[in-house]
Amino acid sequence: MSDEVAVLTVRVDRSICAGHALCAMRAPEVYELDAEGFCASDGRQVSAVLRQKAELGARICPEAAITLEEIG
Ligand code: SF4
Repeated sequence: MSDEVAVLTVRVDRSICAGHALCAMRAPEVYELDAEGFCASDGRQVSAVLRQKAELGARICPEAAITLEEIG
């Protein structure tokens, strides 16, 4: 499998994201913030090489706003 094949889809519940920015600080390769500091990565597809980063960001979110959907 190519490193570029998407294995996860990031889901961010914007209704509970509180803009702590921890996801983007710990895993900037996966998580970006919008101009107000809220996570703007809902729908982002992640390849296998970034799986651990995606999981780290999801784990560290104090609001549990991030979930990861397996693709396929
Ligand atoms: S760590 Fe959680 S609450 Fe903070 S910006 Fe990221 S998704 Fe939002």
